Amino acid sequence: MKILVTGGAGFIGSALIRYLLKETKCEVINVDLLTYAGNLDNLKSVESHRNYTFEKIDIRDRFAIDEVFEKHQPTKVIHLAAESHVDRSIDGPGDFIETNILGTYTLLECSRKYYQTLSNTSKKDFIFHHVSTDEVYGDLEGTECLFDEEFPYSPSSPYSASKAASDHLVRAWYRTYGLPTLVTNCSNNYGPYHFPEKLIPLMILNALEGKPLSIYGTGEQIRDWLYVEDHAKALYIVATKGRPGETYNIGGHNEKTNFDVVSCICSILDELVPKVDKYADLITYVEDRPGHDVRYAIDARKMKEEFDWVPKETFQTGLRKTVIWYLENSEWWRRVDSKIQTRSRLGVKNK
Ligand code: NAD
Repeated sequence: MKILVTGGAGFIGSALIRYLLKETKCEVINVDLLTYAGNLDNLKSVESHRNYTFEKIDIRDRFAIDEVFEKHQPTKVIHLAAESHVDRSIDGPGDFIETNILGTYTLLECSRKYYQTLSNTSKKDFIFHHVSTDEVYGDLEGTECLFDEEFPYSPSSPYSASKAASDHLVRAWYRTYGLPTLVTNCSNNYGPYHFPEKLIPLMILNALEGKPLSIYGTGEQIRDWLYVEDHAKALYIVATKGRPGETYNIGGHNEKTNFDVVSCICSILDELVPKVDKYADLITYVEDRPGHDVRYAIDARKMKEEFDWVPKETFQTGLRKTVIWYLENSEWWRRVDSKIQTRSRLGVKNK
């Protein structure tokens, strides 16, 4: 099976490719433009694998994408390439509209053209799997309600609005053109190789350097956290077993406030890298992000019922692994740091 992965040099895409090459026999074609968020260091452990090919291509480049389909003849597409950082979307939404909406449109059109050339047997295997976010659903009221696959869309930020638009395009290409597509909407991921502008790595690294741990507003925003390797496995399962036209919500059953997340990081660091002062003394509060949703939480029952998928990591085990990874891989994050101006320039980030 040949899987064309877009955005494979990013945080989740690289976890997926490492999973595919280590745990399955799939051939992988990684299509990535290597924007600021793309990093081939994330794939060092698999870069010389005989089943791996890298193509540095912009998903908006229709001609180049057509060529990739023709050359590699993929069995499936798992589409992750996107602009993914909410704060950047507020500062400058243009790239989000271009990549997330127009890029997805281009990929859909290239897939449709390619699909028409396939034999009936290959058509049965083909799937365009679009990787999306729980942020498309918007703010959840109260503490009980969960996002299931039928939940209405109500995105709040330019990022989530652009992802919502791309989800709609993917479903329309299924309905209108019969292209076999499916969508997964996942909660916040965390784990190794996470770009240090996002909440968890930013807090770990700032704490280690004794910098302020700035939390938006009161820190009461709730997110559901999923360890990235659990997501990678779920993506493979859905891409190979999911039904065309369906949506699957993927979550970690780990609802935490931002304050809880930062506190947990501080406790783990107090234990692993003790200092005279407690790391939590570094916590400060900064003005809230505009349009900041209060709560997201996923109902992942369909994943359990259809595929018996449940996350392996709890928040405690996954966060501990993550902190240890950053402690042991300073070479990786120092190289990333050297390419960005300063890690805390944009304040605290949580996707
Ligand atoms: P990321 O920002 O780490 O990686 C995005 C990758 O896409 C990068 O490698 C980048 O170089 C590439 N890319 C960007 N624009 C491109 C273009 N025009 N052409 C080709 N490649 C391009 O993102 P991530 O956190 O790994 O997220 C991956 C996907 O998962 C995104 O679609 C995101 O919306 C979705 N998602 C992320 C989370 C999360 O918590 N990070 C949760 C749910 C869903």
